[in-house]
Order: sequence, then C-alpha cells, then structure tokens
Amino acid sequence: MARERPVFIPELVYFEPDALNYPKGQKIYEWAERQGLPIHMTTSHNRITNLPGESDLEKYRIAKKTLVVGIRKTLKFDQSKPSAEYALPIATGCMAHCHYCYLQTTLGAKPYVRIYVNIDEILEQARQYIEERSPEITRFEAACTSDPVGLEHIGGSLKECIEFMGQQPLGRLRFVTKFHHVEPLLDAKHNKHTRIRFSVNANYVIKQFEPGTSNFYERIAAAQKVASAGYPLGFIIAPIIWHDGWEDGYAELITNLKEALPQEAAADLTFELIQHRFTKTAKNVIRQRYPKTKLEMDEEKRKYKWGRWGQGKYVYADEQAQVLKAFITEQINEHFPDARIEYFT
Ligand code: SF4
Repeated sequence: MARERPVFIPELVYFEPDALNYPKGQKIYEWAERQGLPIHMTTSHNRITNLPGESDLEKYRIAKKTLVVGIRKTLKFDQSKPSAEYALPIATGCMAHCHYCYLQTTLGAKPYVRIYVNIDEILEQARQYIEERSPEITRFEAACTSDPVGLEHIGGSLKECIEFMGQQPLGRLRFVTKFHHVEPLLDAKHNKHTRIRFSVNANYVIKQFEPGTSNFYERIAAAQKVASAGYPLGFIIAPIIWHDGWEDGYAELITNLKEALPQEAAADLTFELIQHRFTKTAKNVIRQRYPKTKLEMDEEKRKYKWGRWGQGKYVYADEQAQVLKAFITEQINEHFPDARIEYFT
C-alpha cells in the first residue's frame, strides 16, 4: 500500500518582522521552533534572494520548501470567475509540483509558500465586499493562489475563514484541494456556507503530472470525511487532458467516485470541469522546471483564446473540447443524476 502523504514541513522559514505582532505570526513562530526549523528574519519577502542551490532548478525546488510568514498588504481582492466573485487571499504558493500549475508563471521567480497572518483584516475586507453586494450572495474562493488545506496545520486560517463565513448570511466560501489533510476542519462551525471541493482526475494525469500531492484514494477518503461533517461537497476535474485512453480514464474516475462516496454526499454535489490550457510563457517555464514532462503543449494542435490581460491561452480546438465536455458530462449525469455541473471552461 502507498505511504500516506505526510503534512508539509518546510525546510526554511522566513518571517517579515511585523508578522510577529500578530497572534498567528507568533503561533507559527512557535510551531517552527518546535519543529526545529531554521528560522530567518527578512525585511520583506522581496529581499529573499539568497536561497541555497547551485542551479536555477535546485533553487526552485528549495523555494517550494520555503515558508515565508508575512502580512497581506494589498486588501483589494482579485476577481475569481467563474467559480466565485472574489479570491480570498490567505496564502500564496504551494509545495506540490503539478507540472501544469498556473502558479508556475503567476508567481514567477518567487515560488515560495507565503502565509498571511493579518487574517482579521482580510476577513474585515471580505465583510465589506459582502455588504457592497447585499442582498446578493457573495462567494469567495480561497484556493486561487495556493492549496490552503495543505497549509492548515501551520496557519489554521481556513478554519477561521470557514467559521467567519458560517456567520455571514450573504457570504459563502469555497476552496479546492489536492491534499487530504482535512482533520482540522471537521469540527468547524461551517453552517453549510463552505463548499469543499477536491481536485480529481484520470489516473494517468494524477500519476504523470501531480507529484507532491495526496493520491486519489486519500483525496476521496477526505471527501467522505467532509461530507460526513455536513459540508457541501464538490469535485473539480482539472485539468482535463486529452491522452491515449482518456475515455476509459475519465469513465473510471467517475465510477470510482460513485463507488467511494456515501449516499448522503451525493445529495448536494457539484462538479466543475476545466480543460487543460497553457500560455507560451508557461510552456517555457514548465519545460525548464520539469524537463522530462509528458505534458502535451503543442500550439499547432490547440486553439488560441485571447486573454483579458493581453496574453492568450492555448485550449483544445472546439470540436475536441466539445467531445471531452459531452463525454464527461454524460458520465456524471449517469452516475450522479442529482449533481450539478457548474461549468465547463
Ligand atoms: Fe498548483 Fe494546486 Fe498542484 Fe499546488 S496542488 S502545485 S496549487 S495545482
């Protein structure tokens, strides 16, 4: 049997000085001390330029194991379409190594993991956004720039966000994860205002492209636990990748989900479907960081989709995207007739 994915323990920890003025900063400091981790102070995360490592690749790998504890200064939240109105910024960066991850490019040369300690200010800002949109519901996505479940044992921020949203009649929280470390969230007073989604995929995709994450069965066992704790549950199938045997792979995925999930979990279940996409910049970065990757990124085979911020993405050609969408939708409808497919993009 495969070894259980352990929780993330960084190899280096940096603190921005003001972080220690916050209870969460103190708490993380004490945690790092108990773990016996090397702790450094830095005036700003931008100043961390001397990470060990001979080559760029080595520096990248060490940065992924480096935790920076700081303050979120920008309290203007980004949009998070189509899954929510706003991104809730509680952490940035991720210790896993998914080849296709868009953080490869959005975080550029700073791929270390950052946890923000001024959670009260962040949640106060969320409260203002909720008020502005009243009487509409406002949804916040907490996993736009990180995988916060994988960091919960260090910062505990997700549980605070869940309990905060539980008290907001018009606020909803959602996040997605590839980690199974959900124990700290199970007793949170969520009031069903938080939807926890697990990122799942065909076996081939998980095996080839998602090193450093919890395996499929760990994720499903965690999904069962959060469903039993009364959370609304969801699955994000992303990135959907066209590969040899993809039909069998995705059919098997849906069958496995069906077999593993208790009946009550299927009562309020959502699916989100996201096809693989890449930018030219991402392709170059991925090739450097994962030189042996089997990720197909051939512009000739793809459709170019213009992006809002100038740089467009390569997605599957319309016919291919339609075939993927139709097949997976049919599988979901057959096995989970009551589930809601929120979007395919
Ligand atoms: Fe990126 Fe998510 Fe993989 Fe982390 S788990 S590397 S955030 S895709």
